[in-house]
Order: sequence, then C-alpha cells, then structure tokens
Amino acid sequence: MKYGVLSDIHANREALAAVLEEGRRREVARYLCLGDLVGYGADPEACLEMIRELGALTIRGNHDAAVADPGELDNFNPAARKAIIWTIPRLRPAEIAYLGGLPLVEAESGITLFHGSLDAPARWRYIFTAADARLSLERLPGFLGFFGHSHRPGGFRLRDGKVSFLSGSRIRIDPADRTLINPGSVGQPRDGDPRASWAVYDSDASRVEIVRVDYPVTETQEKIRSAGLPADLADRLTGGW
Ligand code: ZN
Repeated sequence: MKYGVLSDIHANREALAAVLEEGRRREVARYLCLGDLVGYGADPEACLEMIRELGALTIRGNHDAAVADPGELDNFNPAARKAIIWTIPRLRPAEIAYLGGLPLVEAESGITLFHGSLDAPARWRYIFTAADARLSLERLPGFLGFFGHSHRPGGFRLRDGKVSFLSGSRIRIDPADRTLINPGSVGQPRDGDPRASWAVYDSDASRVEIVRVDYPVTETQEKIRSAGLPADLADRLTGGW
C-alpha cells in the first residue's frame, strides 16, 4: 500500500495541488497529514477543504491549534502571529472547531503520527538532533512514525540502542528498528530547496521516499503579498529558507 505523507502545508494551495497531482501519478492510496494546514499562506480554507476531501488521517499542528486557541500565540514570532490573526476571520467557525479538535497523536496500521515530538506533543518541541529524536523514538509504539514542525526532511533510526540520522531521498524501513521520518514541508520548505517536500511510504516495499515537486512559487508569493501578509512569508519561498 502506498501512503502519501504530508506536513506543514501552511495554506499554500499551489504547492498542495502540485503534490496531489504527483500523488495521483504515483497511485497513492491513503494520505496521512501531520498538521499545520494553515498559517503563513494565503489559502487556508482551500487547503483545509483539499485535505478533508482526501479523507486524510490528520493531526493538529501548532498553527492549527493557534487559530482555535489564541493562547497558543505566545510562542509565535511576529510574522507567524500576524498570519494567524489574518487567518482566523477567513475560516468559518466549523473549520476553526475542526482544526482545534484534531488529535495531537494518531496511529494507523502501526504508523504513528505527531507534529512536534512524541514525548510532549502539546508543547511543540522540535526534533533537530539525534538526542531530540531519541526522546520520541523511545516512546514510539510501533516501528515507524512520521513527524513535522521543523520543515526539514530527513529521518532518525534507533538500532541497537544507537540513534542515527538518515539522509538521502530513499529510506529503507526495517521492522527490527524504530524509524522516525520527517517528510519536509509542502508549503514552506526550510532546507534550501524551494520545491514542495512530502513523502511516499510504500509498505510492501518497506521504503519511504522523500519526494520534491515544483510548483508555481511566484503565484503563491503574489497571493501572500496582495493579501497583506508579512512580505517575509512570500520572500522566503524563493530559496526555501
Ligand atoms: Zn509548520
């Protein structure tokens, strides 16, 4: 079975559409969404609708949480905060309730999903290092999990008590290990590659592939600027930083 793993879409409709087009081409059968559907970008409602139409198994990110609970904004930088304040009146109450009601952790067929970290999912910690990853790997109930939040694609494996970083676009999954993978960000990549980032997990082939997809970046930037969102949120999409 082929799973499409999407994270940090951030209201970037063009990037999400390009990813779903590639997903059709690759015959993805089931989508998993790791949160942050909204925030930063100019198309929150469209992205929310696209994800709901997919019937994706979806969890809550910190930006989703913040539209429903402005108390969450305390930890946001000024541009991120402005974008959430811009987003709230552009969503219907039922959409805000949907985002706020998404679970923090989900699991399906032994695959665990969380946005930041598994040791404290409501505290939105980042996984950057092997030491960060260990805290989540040790709590992983199965052999595979997906996370987002850092917008940086890559993985970590726990084998024989040691945690190693997994780079490269193809990652082999061994059920004897525990593996955590970040598919990168669909809507706001931060690894220096501006293309939308997502992952395909082929459970029959025991392999995860990080996939990059071109999308019309300038169109998205134009929308962000004309919406009156902070210009930085448009500019950073050029280089993926
Ligand atoms: Zn995010």
